[in-house]
Amino acid sequence: MSLGEPKFRAKQIFSWVWRGARDFDEMTDISKSLRAKLAEKFYTENIKIQEKFVSGIDETRKYLLKLEDGNFIETVAMKYNHGITVCVSSQVGCRMGCAFCASTKAGMVRSLSAGEIAAQVLIVSEDMGERVSNIVVMGIGEPLDNYDNLLKFLKIVGHPDGLNIGQRHITVSTCGIVPKIRALADEKLQITLSISLHAVDDKTRSDIMPINRKYNIAELLDACRYYIDRTNRRISFEYTLIAGVNDSAQNARDLGGLLKGMLCHINLIPVNSVSETDFVRSDAARVEKFRKILENMGFAATVRRRMGADIDAACGQLRRERIKKEAK
Ligand code: SAH
Repeated sequence: MSLGEPKFRAKQIFSWVWRGARDFDEMTDISKSLRAKLAEKFYTENIKIQEKFVSGIDETRKYLLKLEDGNFIETVAMKYNHGITVCVSSQVGCRMGCAFCASTKAGMVRSLSAGEIAAQVLIVSEDMGERVSNIVVMGIGEPLDNYDNLLKFLKIVGHPDGLNIGQRHITVSTCGIVPKIRALADEKLQITLSISLHAVDDKTRSDIMPINRKYNIAELLDACRYYIDRTNRRISFEYTLIAGVNDSAQNARDLGGLLKGMLCHINLIPVNSVSETDFVRSDAARVEKFRKILENMGFAATVRRRMGADIDAACGQLRRERIKKEAK
């Protein structure tokens, strides 16, 4: 929509929005008449903090946010030495159907707009009273199932007049939508791609991750090699350890075999229990043994630090509980 205004006005407005202005009237370097015109034609979306849980251990904060249309999403803020990392949702719900994940239990309602994804970062930054240094797109939803908005979101948060968070400080996690991984590779971005692998054979992976029936492990790893080739970026493989399902010493050796020669990092995550499923996390000794095998094979393998253990709610559970409560 054109208002016949000079270009720099757009820059002014953009910068106000990402400095936290909620209303056109706060944009004091814009004339009153233009502010009125803007308010007539546009609106600022109202996303509010419905609930907030603050960890007493490490200052992790979990937010249940209410969108303008009444839907709920979750956002998490984690405090590290190097600054604040925000974990954002990309969709309301998810349609990928991973067996161990709470976010997908009731399917997907809709994708989030680029603005709704970016707004999560702003809201958390305001609440924490600090600049956000890193973003991980690992909240509710499958980001590559919302591809165009994801790219727009990267542009918005990376803009120097806005939050100014560069691609090297952003991680995008996917369950493995192969054509989109290839498309993303061709964008040649500097973000970190994180792949939720979680199993080393197609039978097991298809059992816990339905996407594998469409794109199997070989196709997925081919796309990963293509991604590394195009971008020169290290891929981070997520592997959630589920007792008796994927956590044996042989599984670890097979994982090493699959990833041999790839520029990558392996992140091990003891599975979080989710009501409605009966997966059990591997015990600490088994996790360490798994990690050691990979390390001995020459991989950089770490175990994910558990943040906010006292407010522990695996991804998607706050929203699930809220929906159940509202249904009653
Ligand atoms: N859809 C994307 C991003 C959201 S999920 C993806 O699949 O990567 C973020 C990460 O949390 C993924 O690695 C996912 O597999 C993992 N995850 C989901 N539920 C979990 C649980 N109960 N315990 C441990 N990790 C879980």
